[in-house]
Amino acid sequence: MQRSATKDQIDNVVSAIESRQYQARPLPGGERVAIGVLYNKGAVDASMFSGMPGVKEVIAVTRPYKLVSRELSSDDTIINVKDIQIGGNNFVIMAGPCAIESYDQAMKIGEAIVNKGAHIFRGGAYKPRTSPYSFQGLGEEGLKIMAKVREQTGMPIITEVMDFQTFDLVESYTDIIQIGTRNMQNFSLLRRAGQSKKPVFLKRGMAATIDEWLMAAEYILEGGNTQVILCERGVRTFVNHSRNTLDLSAVPVVKKETHLPIMMDPSHAGGHRDQVIPLSLASVAVGAHGIMVEVHHEPDKALSDGAQSLYPEQFEHLCRQVHAIRQVL
Ligand code: PEP
Ligand code: MN
Repeated sequence: MQRSATKDQIDNVVSAIESRQYQARPLPGGERVAIGVLYNKGAVDASMFSGMPGVKEVIAVTRPYKLVSRELSSDDTIINVKDIQIGGNNFVIMAGPCAIESYDQAMKIGEAIVNKGAHIFRGGAYKPRTSPYSFQGLGEEGLKIMAKVREQTGMPIITEVMDFQTFDLVESYTDIIQIGTRNMQNFSLLRRAGQSKKPVFLKRGMAATIDEWLMAAEYILEGGNTQVILCERGVRTFVNHSRNTLDLSAVPVVKKETHLPIMMDPSHAGGHRDQVIPLSLASVAVGAHGIMVEVHHEPDKALSDGAQSLYPEQFEHLCRQVHAIRQVL
């Protein structure tokens, strides 16, 4: 739609699309609204819409994903979480422990990172662990603790939702809903996330192609939720020097293909503390919109992912280096 298009003009185009048995999804961009035409079989006759008031141009999307595609909306999607903007030229740092272990642990870490560069507090209350015998998270108690950290530090919070059953509960506490690598193609979870009014942080499946990942994001947008942040967290390769392989090349490709922001998780990619800082710096340089890193005040005692958790002092140092690289860029 034209930048000056009125709400009535947008509604009229939506009605025109729907009267032809397609579905319409308006996508608010920074500059203008794009309206996706969905469920068409084959090409749509552009002349149906091109003459309508407020329409700027009719674009045939060539990609299998539509709503997430740059073809549909060339403006970067900016996601607002309180006063933090994710996307565009902003660089956002999410940090915190892998798992919320106790009130004291979470609060200590929150206070150690809040004025040192962290914008958003991360932590798991429901943990997807490889072994059923490993610590599974504190559940709702963990969510309550996170809410207290938010209250105390002012940082918005992000936490993972593992299943459909706990979705409403997690959604009610968190500011950003995280969908983890193991659930990237859990379609019922994606559809539920599509109904949410809260931003969704969608991690790339550890063996997913970029097309599969963007199609997973498409499920969420198709459901009506346009606030999706992508996160590259390393993919499974043949190496054993790192936990996963951070796919830096995903960033320029994803930025070309989609208007959605892309962040990096160097912690789960590297798996070892000493790899996290260099991979974070590479993430800045390659053009990511932010990083998510694990921090623990006592990594040796952490109930999960201690080996990849930074000490608070290392985190502070990392944030200074991130800013230095941003200046150079
Ligand atoms: C996490 O961020 O806590 C997590 C489990 O990450 P991933 O889904 O990338 O393994
Ligand atoms: Mn972890």
